[in-house]
Amino acid sequence: MCKTFKYKLKPKPEQERMLDRILMLCRHIYNAAVGERREAWRMHGVSVTYYQQKMELPGIKDAMPEYGEVNAQVLQDVVLRVERAFQAFFRRLREGQTPGYPRFHGRDRYNSFTFPQVGEHGGARLDSNLLVLSKIGRIAVHWSRPLEGIPKTVTISREADGWYACISCADVPVQHLPETGKETGIDLGIEAFATLSDGTRIFYPGWYRKAERALKTAQRRIARRKKGSNRRRKAVKLLARAHQTVRRQRTDFHHKTALALVCTNDTIYHEDLQVRNMVRNHHLAKSISDVGWAAFLSILSFKAVCAGRSVIAGGPAYTSQTCSGCGVVVTKGLSVRWHSCPACGTSLHRDHNAAKNIEWAGQALQGDVALATSEN
Ligand SMILES: [Zn+2]
Repeated sequence: MCKTFKYKLKPKPEQERMLDRILMLCRHIYNAAVGERREAWRMHGVSVTYYQQKMELPGIKDAMPEYGEVNAQVLQDVVLRVERAFQAFFRRLREGQTPGYPRFHGRDRYNSFTFPQVGEHGGARLDSNLLVLSKIGRIAVHWSRPLEGIPKTVTISREADGWYACISCADVPVQHLPETGKETGIDLGIEAFATLSDGTRIFYPGWYRKAERALKTAQRRIARRKKGSNRRRKAVKLLARAHQTVRRQRTDFHHKTALALVCTNDTIYHEDLQVRNMVRNHHLAKSISDVGWAAFLSILSFKAVCAGRSVIAGGPAYTSQTCSGCGVVVTKGLSVRWHSCPACGTSLHRDHNAAKNIEWAGQALQGDVALATSEN
């Protein structure tokens, strides 16, 4: 299994200057490569390929000696990023969408560079507890958790509070958890973050809401300050910090919640978010919570894979309208938080009812699959 491990770096001041400089040089190459493709198409109607641009790199180094300060594989990866941006652009065109043309990146929009190979022949390697980067040197790492598997690539990124290394590893061992014999459905909501089919409700912790409020304050502060002023620039920095804090706390909460679910259940059923968005809450569509749910589900699926558990998406729409006791449809508006069934007398929280339906729908789906395979 592949897995990426993220660590904070502790570069010395002169190393930090070098990292900044490499980032700038990479960004210039990126913009030049985008510009070249754009011009070639505009002037001559021809496409420039990844290999053509890659072959140009040594020439660039001859013309601009400062590019000798950047590892050759790192520069190749920059050109590869341009290739990927164009591929994504053309793919979306083919799919009938109207994507934006690949853009030039400003100073604040280009924040990472990648060593595509680790080890003897690559630009990055590990030496005892230090990360050794070609042309930069030995950087101290805050090893917040053990690195597992075989390191394949290293991406160095600049964030609001400093520098980080993302080390992606192959052959990370899968550690299967003992079976629990339990399954659950989860209903993702706005009032409670999640509700399980046994009625357990999980809420975002209080400090998360506090951090969200701080984010709003920081946004308003920027709006008040004059464009181009120093005070505004400072406020923008503070906002970036606040964003980072919220993002981290949310991710941390997602990880803890997902871990607890994976530890206590063999199978977890949830609603397909795409189906859900189509049928539910049209006026709430694309709320901030949606983004959080998708991120949470990807963390949950990944943890499940690591532990040998199943996470299954699906289930029919209208899970909140159907009675989990008898299957009768009990129509209710969004503001009705309690499900009371006139047919069978089932009475429970609306989200609890939905979670039960999600679990049963998921189990039924599984049953179909088992039936289909046994027939073949
Ligand atoms: Zn009922």
